[in-house]
Amino acid sequence: MKKIALLGSTGSVGTQTLNIVSHHPEQFQVTALTAGNNIELLIKQAKQYNPDLVCLATKELAEEARLHLPASMRIVYGEEGLIEAASIEEADVVVTAIVGSRGLPATLAAIDAGKTVALANKETLVTAGHLVMKRARDRGVAIVPVDSEHSALFQCLNGEPREAVNTLTLTASGGSFRDRSRDELANVTVADALRHPNWSMGAKITIDSATMVNKGLEVIEAHWLFDMPYDRIQVLMHPESIIHSFVEFKDHSIIAQLGDPDMRVPIQYALTYPERWATPTKRLDLAAIAKLSFREMDYIRFPCLKLAYDCGIMGQSAPTVFNAANEVAVARFLREEISFLDIERVLETVISRHEAVDLPDVQSIAEVDLWARRLASEI
Ligand code: MG
Repeated sequence: MKKIALLGSTGSVGTQTLNIVSHHPEQFQVTALTAGNNIELLIKQAKQYNPDLVCLATKELAEEARLHLPASMRIVYGEEGLIEAASIEEADVVVTAIVGSRGLPATLAAIDAGKTVALANKETLVTAGHLVMKRARDRGVAIVPVDSEHSALFQCLNGEPREAVNTLTLTASGGSFRDRSRDELANVTVADALRHPNWSMGAKITIDSATMVNKGLEVIEAHWLFDMPYDRIQVLMHPESIIHSFVEFKDHSIIAQLGDPDMRVPIQYALTYPERWATPTKRLDLAAIAKLSFREMDYIRFPCLKLAYDCGIMGQSAPTVFNAANEVAVARFLREEISFLDIERVLETVISRHEAVDLPDVQSIAEVDLWARRLASEI
């Protein structure tokens, strides 16, 4: 029996995680569920999966949930509640499927509690890769990536010595505006941007795919997860999203991981690692697909990816600033305050005004993060 604490249960990765749990009711047990404001869905999930603990964003929401849930279920809220869920004694695996910087303290708490971390929160490694990976090593805790690209790399690297690796290549579908020129991007709408061709994901990450910020964050994550310098991490455009990423070894052999694009495969692998179980997903029919295509990444068409590499190489606080400014810019675009191309303008401006500094702890990360957010919301 694998016991799971699921942080961010009402989001895209969260609901798909519960779908996987439902397919293996004998093997999985949910011990904690956390959500933000989506109380209706959280209550429904809590009734179905019967966790020991649930967490909501605020005291008011927690009190309301109390009226609907069994008295034996612990109900907590806010930042502290999230930490409690992340370190709950009963869990073996903590799935960190929260969007945004709030995922960092929770991930650190899970590591400190000795849990295997199924990592689905990008910001954790982007802003604090140095802290998180060191803490996981010291504590002897496995960080298993949920993101499809990193799961692919993790699977390709399985059992291979690091010295044998030449390069890591992340594939990119190109997002919802893959075939549009920069001129055509000037007037695209929120609805246009939310239509991703291959993957079903949350709003923030769908916009991040269209700007290629998502791939940039993934490059930075790969740097930390696999301890690989940036000049050995590449991005390749692959519109079909069938090859989820690949590793080139010293002998020029390439090992790739392929599959129908369905997040439930990497989610389940993170839960069952190092085992593989059957999934309820579609089998990949290569004969039916017939052809896979690839294109060199165009860094002029997608300047945010170039910016992400620059910030990654700059290191220190630069990736934190990149991430925080992007979160604000995307939120502003979703509220229709700024245009799609303004997202990259906001990023460029905030980064150009920042001088990178060391970030030794969570407190200093939070300060830089706040500075970048303020500036990004004023531009
Ligand atoms: Mg991805």
